[in-house]
Amino acid sequence: MEDASVVLGIHSRHLTALQERFLAEPATVGAFDRLTKRAAAAGFDLRVASAFRDYDRQTEIINQKWTGARPVKDVVGLPLLRENVSDLAWLEAILRFSALPGTSRHHWGTDLDIWDAAAVCVDYQPALEPSEYEQDGVFAEMTFWLDALISADDAEGFYKPYNADYGGVAPEAWHISYRPVASALQKQQRVDLCWPLWRGEADPEGNRHEALAMLALLEPHADDLFTRFVLV
Ligand SMILES: [Zn+2]
Repeated sequence: MEDASVVLGIHSRHLTALQERFLAEPATVGAFDRLTKRAAAAGFDLRVASAFRDYDRQTEIINQKWTGARPVKDVVGLPLLRENVSDLAWLEAILRFSALPGTSRHHWGTDLDIWDAAAVCVDYQPALEPSEYEQDGVFAEMTFWLDALISADDAEGFYKPYNADYGGVAPEAWHISYRPVASALQKQQRVDLCWPLWRGEADPEGNRHEALAMLALLEPHADDLFTRFVLV
């Protein structure tokens, strides 16, 4: 029961503080501390830009993108205009960069978006854009260092689930996941667990959540979208 709540992002009691402003799962925090120390020895200052994000926050993001209150980008990262695309194309564009609530890896406390404070000035705000992490980007050296560790299976258990474009979620060089805990949670992701919450019905803990704004569109496409954007 508890695992389903963790997978859905409606449970945060198991989490612990990470770099003051963030929450993450305890084993993930321990592993990230070890990775941070090794990074410091190599000249990098690993910082977290995002860690645990709950179901309701993810609903807010998705609903705001659906209504256009938040910008939606096309495949090359340029703003997409609502009137230029079908409903389904609009939703697919949203899902390339943001997960449906209940399906985000950030629900688990095992996944972190990271950057390197040693590479930039003190007031720099990371945008989490590919250009920052690619060759010649400000975080390229940290990316190169970390990717080498991941390739050697020597990154304290972390890997990059969105390291390449598989046609669903866009590549995210900043997103790392603590595999020893995340892999078990990933196996428990199911679209039928999400439906009651998406409809605004009670979750396994007995709480209700804001319904998804694109519920009618989602109904016939959810299984296909789940396969393409979640089960990667
Ligand atoms: Zn992320």
